[in-house]
Amino acid sequence: MFDKKTQAEIEILQEGGHILAGVLKHLADLAKVGVTGLELDKVAQEMIIQAGAKPSFKGYHGFPNALCVSVNQTVVHGIPNNQVFQNGDLVGLDIGMEYKGLFTDMATTVAIGEVSATSKKLLEVTKEALNIGIAQVKPGKDIADIGIAIEQYVKPFGFGIVRDLTGHGVGRAVHEDPFVPNFTYGQKIGKMFPGLVIAIEPMLIAGSTHKVKIAKDNWAVNSADSSFTAHFEHTVAVTENGHLILTK
Ligand code: MG
Repeated sequence: MFDKKTQAEIEILQEGGHILAGVLKHLADLAKVGVTGLELDKVAQEMIIQAGAKPSFKGYHGFPNALCVSVNQTVVHGIPNNQVFQNGDLVGLDIGMEYKGLFTDMATTVAIGEVSATSKKLLEVTKEALNIGIAQVKPGKDIADIGIAIEQYVKPFGFGIVRDLTGHGVGRAVHEDPFVPNFTYGQKIGKMFPGLVIAIEPMLIAGSTHKVKIAKDNWAVNSADSSFTAHFEHTVAVTENGHLILTK
């Protein structure tokens, strides 16, 4: 049985999620040609602390920053650096926050300047894949139904869905059970119930591979074929008759 949050805890998560969504929206607006990931990380950290919260990624398994900045072929877990964003880049921004003792998690991918037609499609499909995954969230459905729906939607576009990384339970910690695959897992994982809180986060690769490789820094997860990638994420609570997106 997976962890259940009380109504009071869901309300705190919603409050925190709302703050986090505001932070990420601001960071996405700032992400332009000539800006660096480290600059965004600094803003993220300041805004979170200003809100009386804590950046939950910083120090998590030794991750050095508040914000993951994953550029182009990097799917997730990119360490922000001094390299300026360039026209045509796809910049993934992933951030987690602890607010009043509870954790939310969210991500978006930003097009820098004018991006290729394939990149535009990749963004659109990944974003919609998240919506389609969220639409599966209701009591009685199985966690595995999320990935089945996402894969069914993504397949015709020919993009690869990352399998080595998945969504996850969240709320009391950065990562909790269950894992939430974005592909057809092939077996049941567990039924959803009111009070379950999960992060859904489809990660797509423009090439048709689902394979990833870890970079030399031991953090960045790159597409195996070095093609561009996109990642969108929301923290979602299961409610009595459906779901509530907490990171709004
Ligand atoms: Mg996550």
